[in-house]
Parts: sequence; structure tokens; C-alpha cells
Amino acid sequence: MLENYSWKSASQIFRKKKVALVPVGSTEQHGPHLPLGTDFFIACALAESVARDTGAICAPVIPIGVSAHHKQFWGTVWVSPQTFRQYIYEIATSLEYHGIRRIIFVNGHGGNFPSLQEVSLNLRAENLYSVAYQWWTDPSVIELQRRLFKSKGSHAGAIETAMLLAIRPELVDTASYKEAAEGAAAEFGVTKFGAQLPVDTLEFSESGATLDPREATVEAGKQIFHTALESLKNLTHWLEKAKVDDLEPKAHKS
Ligand SMILES: [Zn+2]
Repeated sequence: MLENYSWKSASQIFRKKKVALVPVGSTEQHGPHLPLGTDFFIACALAESVARDTGAICAPVIPIGVSAHHKQFWGTVWVSPQTFRQYIYEIATSLEYHGIRRIIFVNGHGGNFPSLQEVSLNLRAENLYSVAYQWWTDPSVIELQRRLFKSKGSHAGAIETAMLLAIRPELVDTASYKEAAEGAAAEFGVTKFGAQLPVDTLEFSESGATLDPREATVEAGKQIFHTALESLKNLTHWLEKAKVDDLEPKAHKS
């Protein structure tokens, strides 16, 4: 992990590697049963495992993201999308100063995604390639989720609870599962006549959770973690080996 290197040891690894992983999360409510740091704990655990296995550079985690829609729940801390985009952009350009032109944002929070995509498009126009990986939208994780759980809830539901049971079991309050499930939403957000309404979480979920965390097990969490880890490792290898031409935008049609 970058924070553990001296500048002298960092110089060795920055000269050797093309890719840096940047874990990104949030500090926001995750129902009455999961910790506020859920999203960044998961992003961090995935990025650090990949760095350990592949020798990739792993930047310190960004623990606060775009979470204003959870603000009515105690302890949620957020920044605006503008601030988040600027911060992410400057982290990327400071890594570029040390020769890194390929970045994987290991994202743990859906609210960060539009900003990460926008920053990645802007960076690409400046010949810096970045991509956001999200474990819960990874098709191989979705497929596994389908097999493991009847309940499909994402935010603070079975899948996220299982991940926490696998990586930080001491922070999961199983005694609050019932409260989470009873006040949970059937899905994340509100759709009306085909439009997604601009609502805060408290408007559709009294407990802050989605569906039922009670199906979560340590074993399921380990399977999900390893499936996501495999994808992220493959993505890291691909990006490390990719030709510059394959990462740059195409030239104008003749
Ligand atoms: Zn989450």
C-alpha cells in the first residue's frame, strides 16, 4: 500500500508499474446493522488484495463520496459531485506526475459512479486512462448473487451484508437484522411512470436498507469477494499489458 512505502521504495515500484488502483467509497448509512464505512471497507479490501497478489500500486482509500441522498441518517458525511470530481481528477494527475497514466478506481459506492465516469472521459481526452470497477455491477457477481440469494437488494441488503461478514464480521450487528428488514425498501429509489425520481433514501426506506439482510452468510460473502477479486485482478493485468494505441480514442474518420 502506497502509504506504507518510503519515497525511496515508492520510486522502485513507480518505475516498474503502469497501473495504480485507487479505492473509493463513502461514509454513509447502511441500515441499522452495517457500519458507515461499509463501502470504503469493501473497496479497500478488494484493492489491497489485488495489490498484494499482483504487486500493483494501491493508493490510500478515498473514504468520503457523493452521499447527500443519505443525509437524514445519523453520521452520513458527503461532498458535492463537483468537489468529488475535482478531488479525483487531481489525485489522477498527481499520480501521472510520477509516471502513472493508467488508473483503476475501485468503487464501493454507486453515488460516485457518474462522477468517476465523467472524470475518466475527461482524463482520456488528456491521454490518461482510467476506469471504474464496481463489484456489485460486475456480471459475474450478479450471476453469483442470483444463485446465492432470493432477495436481490443491493444497498445494505443480503449481498453487502455478506461482504461485510466476510471482511469485517466484528462490525456487523446481527441483532439489528430484523429492524433492517422490517423498515427496508423493496428496491433502491422510486420510479414513477418510467422516471426515476430525485429522492433521498429516507423517502423510500425507513431503516436505510434495501430488502432483507438475513440471507447473508460468511460463506456467501467469501464467494462474492473472491469472484470480484478475480475480475479486478484480470482487469489490472489487462490494463498493465494493454498497448497505448488500444487505450487512446480513435483518430477522426478519413
Ligand atoms: Zn454500500
